[in-house]
Amino acid sequence: MNARKPVHVAMFSGGAASAYVAYLMVQTHGKDNCMLFFTNTLWEDNDNYRFMYEIADYLGLEITERIDGRTPEEVFLETRFLGNSRLAKCSSELKVRQTVIFIEELRDQGLEPILYFGIGPHERHRADNLKDFYGHQALEPVEARFPLLDGNIKDVNLKEVIENEWGIKLPRMYDLGFSHANCGGRCVRGGFNHYRQLHQIWPDIYKAQEDMEQRLRDLLGNVSILKRDGKPFTLEEYRQELELIEQGYQEIAIGLEDDTVPCVCVFT
Ligand code: SF4
Repeated sequence: MNARKPVHVAMFSGGAASAYVAYLMVQTHGKDNCMLFFTNTLWEDNDNYRFMYEIADYLGLEITERIDGRTPEEVFLETRFLGNSRLAKCSSELKVRQTVIFIEELRDQGLEPILYFGIGPHERHRADNLKDFYGHQALEPVEARFPLLDGNIKDVNLKEVIENEWGIKLPRMYDLGFSHANCGGRCVRGGFNHYRQLHQIWPDIYKAQEDMEQRLRDLLGNVSILKRDGKPFTLEEYRQELELIEQGYQEIAIGLEDDTVPCVCVFT
């Protein structure tokens, strides 16, 4: 039998769902038995920090933050692999690794972490994947819980509660139309629609991402974040296509597929 004292750890990402999960966790277990855990990729939008600190104040908890120190680009350069929707080593290096280290640190202190994820009722398959994932990552399996899924709590409802009842403004990325608030719009798991949105809202950040992709291409050859018809399709090519659409020369992007997959480690 596990003699360690349970500690409830919300995987705090800067998104609305993880904030609400933290609230449910504290309501159930009391703040003295709870923690907010945030892994920083150094690509986060500044307004996410504002949101996280306001939520932490509201719950009466400190944020436990871990920073690997590398950005996703530095991970891509070191591992010589540009992340994409199918495989994103930024996630495993900057988030999962820090989480596993933290889990073992807690165990060394006689605590047994239970992880809480902001996965909603429409994402059951992701909960199953995560359960399995964290069941094998640390030295011993870690329990993962999904209160939104268990309580059938929908995204739209929890966002309303946060803004209207708690009086905390959601991260600006939601208002700007992004599907999730992670990594400041630069998520390499984002698909065509995500990057179209990024180009429209923050063309300079799109350009930064395009330049990063080019640096990786200079090093590694014909690699890209997006794929079209199973082949590399660069952000430069996509930007040129989007510019034609914006100028009215082309109606829709040809073969526009959207394979946007939110980060495996963080959630809305
Ligand atoms: S949100 Fe996207 S870019 Fe950021 S760490 Fe996760 S997979 Fe990588």
